[in-house]
Amino acid sequence: MSFTKVILKKNEDIRIKAGHLWVFSNEIAKVEDAVMNGDIVSVYDSKDEFIGAGFYNKNSLIAVRILSHKQAFDIKEVLRTKIIAAKELREELYPERDSYRLVFSESDFLPGLIIDKYNNTYVLQVYSFGMEQQSELIVEILKEDLHAENIFSKNEEYFRKLEGLPTEDKVWLGERKKEIIAEQGIKYEIDFENSHKTGFYFDQSDNRLFIEKISKGKKVLDAFCNSGGFGLHALKAGAEKVTFIDSSASEIEKAKSNYSLNGFEKEAEYEAGDVFNYLEKCKTGNSKFDVVMIDPPAFAKNKKTLAVARKGYERINKLALEAVENNGWLVTSSCSFHLSEGEFIAAINKAAQKARKSIQLIHFNNASLDHPTLPQMPETSYLKFAVLKVSALNK
Ligand code: SAH
Repeated sequence: MSFTKVILKKNEDIRIKAGHLWVFSNEIAKVEDAVMNGDIVSVYDSKDEFIGAGFYNKNSLIAVRILSHKQAFDIKEVLRTKIIAAKELREELYPERDSYRLVFSESDFLPGLIIDKYNNTYVLQVYSFGMEQQSELIVEILKEDLHAENIFSKNEEYFRKLEGLPTEDKVWLGERKKEIIAEQGIKYEIDFENSHKTGFYFDQSDNRLFIEKISKGKKVLDAFCNSGGFGLHALKAGAEKVTFIDSSASEIEKAKSNYSLNGFEKEAEYEAGDVFNYLEKCKTGNSKFDVVMIDPPAFAKNKKTLAVARKGYERINKLALEAVENNGWLVTSSCSFHLSEGEFIAAINKAAQKARKSIQLIHFNNASLDHPTLPQMPETSYLKFAVLKVSALNK
């Protein structure tokens, strides 16, 4: 099958040839034939050399998302090969797990497709027009090759809108029922009807495991706890007491039931409320923790809000540092793609200066191994995770 030809302007091929997977609309010199949104097109440089083939969408700033570097192919076989490669990668990295991010979009060379696996239930997020049109093939592959029992979509409106896609969730196979997953030694009940993202934040999985090193016998605060992941790992490692706080009352309920599900006995405290206010109250009451973990939602949704977001990160990290006992730990994350690693560390450092604390960076990481990044495509990396030892400035 041959595809409609899209010819790039001079020099606009360089980034794509280096392995970036997006062609922006202003980089295109010519589209040779009529083409519909979602169709596969062949991308050529200005000297008529073939670069790659991908999904076209004239309504998106990302006009082409490269899917293959072959000139001709069968779409189902390309999708099948890539989904199986993604599965084999997870099986190699996490042989003991049944639940993880199976496919992470561009990072697994499947533009606009996220698949999270919860036991034998597969939850899809589709964020490109072309991938949306292949949904039925994707479902077939999950049935034929992975023997899926349940398949449904659980999309976020924001990303669908950018591609001009309707907000729509669908059950493709089986049913949308609760799952209990075992993940890095902790059990979680996943209630897909009422949850963030696809149901669980897999991206922090390895980082939650890391905090077990520093939690034994400690008084721990899990702020922005969602279903309780970090705090539950602290309890598993023998924390003396964990305080869970999240603004969502239903997430706090989940943290509670996950605590029971795991049969923990050490003390746990729960608060549905705003972390900023809570930490201000801790400051007034001089109440402190050995380990303070903060994992806020993305403060910088886009470049325009970056300056305000930077202040937000500084403020939350300052408040968190003030709640750390001398010689305790700050565990801090940012999931804003627009805030670089350097800017994140700078915000923490500024916060420490303002809080009059001395900090040592002990560990830094990005997302878990089931969230690969493409070195040639910075857009695929977003999560920052830092673990700092905190002491008084005047020691
Ligand atoms: N740490 C979690 C993921 C956190 S996601 C995990 O390991 O799974 C961010 C969480 O912050 C969400 O659950 C959201 O409900 C909560 N949140 C957002 N703004 C908040 C605020 N101002 N105060 C408290 N919680 C907030």
